[in-house]
Amino acid sequence: MPEYVCIVCPTGCILNVQEIDGKVIVSGNECARGAAYGENELKNPVRLLTSTVAISGAIHPRLPVVSSQELPKAMIEKCLEEVYKTKALAPVLKGQVIIPNVCGTGADILASRSMALVEAAG
Ligand code: SF4
Repeated sequence: MPEYVCIVCPTGCILNVQEIDGKVIVSGNECARGAAYGENELKNPVRLLTSTVAISGAIHPRLPVVSSQELPKAMIEKCLEEVYKTKALAPVLKGQVIIPNVCGTGADILASRSMALVEAAG
C-alpha cells in the first residue's frame, strides 16, 4: 500500500492510500485536506518547480525562479533541463516570465525576485 507524507501542513501525517474498485481510500490523515492530497499523490502528483537560472549583467550569477503553477511530477525533470539551459538578462522584475509555457505544460517559469542591471566598471 503506497505511503505518503502529507506536506499540506507541518503536522506531516503519514497517509496510507489504496485504490479499491476504482475508489481511492486514504487513511492516516487528520483532516480532509490530507485525503485530497493523498488521492492526488496516487493519481496525479504535482509539484511547484523552484530552481535558478543563469543571469548576466546582474550582481548575482543565478536568478531564483518558480513555476506559475504546479506541474505534473513526471515533467519536473524535463522542465528543469529547460531551466538549466536558460540564460536571463538583467534587469529582471519579480514575477517576470523567464520561460513561457515550459515544456508545453501551460505553466510559465517566473523570476522569484528582481535583479537590477549592474553597470560595468571602468
Ligand atoms: S492530513 Fe491534514 S493535518 Fe495531517 S499533514 Fe495533511 S493537512 Fe496537515
